[in-house]
Amino acid sequence: MAILDLRQQFPILNRMVKGKPLVYFDNAATSQKPQVVIDALTHYYTHYNANIHRGIHTLAEEATMAYEATRRTAQEFIGAVSEEEIIFTRGTTEGINLVAYTWGRQNIGTGDEIIISGMEHHSNIVPWQILCEEKGAVLKVIPVNDNGELVMDTYKALLNSKTKLVSVVHVSNSLGTVNPIKEIIEAAHQVGAKVLIDGAQSAVHLDINVHEMDCDFFAFSGHKVYGPTGVGVLYGKKELLESMPVFQGGGEMIKEVTFEKTTYNDLPYKYEAGTPNIADTIALKAALDFIKETGKATIRAHEEELLAYATAQFQAIPGLKIIGNAKEKVSLISFIIKGVHPQDVGVLLDNQGIAVRTGHHCTQPLMARFGIPGTIRASFALYNQKEEIDALITGLHKTIKMLS
Ligand code: PMP
Repeated sequence: MAILDLRQQFPILNRMVKGKPLVYFDNAATSQKPQVVIDALTHYYTHYNANIHRGIHTLAEEATMAYEATRRTAQEFIGAVSEEEIIFTRGTTEGINLVAYTWGRQNIGTGDEIIISGMEHHSNIVPWQILCEEKGAVLKVIPVNDNGELVMDTYKALLNSKTKLVSVVHVSNSLGTVNPIKEIIEAAHQVGAKVLIDGAQSAVHLDINVHEMDCDFFAFSGHKVYGPTGVGVLYGKKELLESMPVFQGGGEMIKEVTFEKTTYNDLPYKYEAGTPNIADTIALKAALDFIKETGKATIRAHEEELLAYATAQFQAIPGLKIIGNAKEKVSLISFIIKGVHPQDVGVLLDNQGIAVRTGHHCTQPLMARFGIPGTIRASFALYNQKEEIDALITGLHKTIKMLS
């Protein structure tokens, strides 16, 4: 489908900002939503809003069916073997924390090692720091080279019999780097470690097949795949999810409760305590279907064209430096401009209707690695166009002139 036709499915892209047509380049923070997702939300609240699973009335049945239909779609979307391996969460952050609080508390002990990388989002650093502090375990970090790629030799040297978990980001939200996760997973498994992949940035751009990848856990967020906020997916291998202790206690996650003893529900409900985010979970299906119908290959081809087009133009701007030049990248450019504060650039671009993100992007250690406080980040989605990149380039020239 032509990009213009796709764009028309995103109503927000018609709005003006500061008197200019919106140019939305903050897709790595959250993507915009197609009309089908917005309609799925309002349709649920207008026609069949009800609590799920326990009701026997028509509305409860309809809501339950729609909620569980998303689980099937999510299972297919990431190539999981079984629906029982799909746990609905609030997002990537909650998925990672769930693993840290359950699998982590059961399996990490004094002197054990957890490996993360130097390009992790804070949500894949802090839960492991908390766990390591509590258990007397050690956090090890795979270094990042000047191009923004993981130093794989060092990674392999870090692995040993004490390594219990490797938790790494699939695609960096700050650099766009696509990490060699197959190699990372294989090497970790050779020493008997489990692997969690933070798929927050990859699920929208790359084909995901957790079964082929052979990761033990994979987490992603609905709002970065053209779906709603407040819902995400944690995939876990069935035998792991079955053996792990429960996360939150409450309704839905139990089989039977007495004051003496409670027995827990089967997968996946064991990890879904309380009334879940029904509406957003239902609407997530519309987003995943939208991506499937559009085709990841089509999306990728368009985004790669945008990335190449933007990179060439960025390189021609005096004083502009791209941070992260990995061989394999998604459609995201992080950059700094000599003598200019990123935040000032962000504000001046916003005055021209252009939305970019500035700052550390929740990757402070990575910024420290490059010796910078932050970057300006332009991240492109399937609905972006070359004309918008032209507007950004013009905007950058104007901004640099005003600030220097
Ligand atoms: N990991 C990465 C790489 C991310 O980009 C993000 C979101 N910026 C997260 C984790 C956390 O996702 P969420 O805020 O949706 O839980």
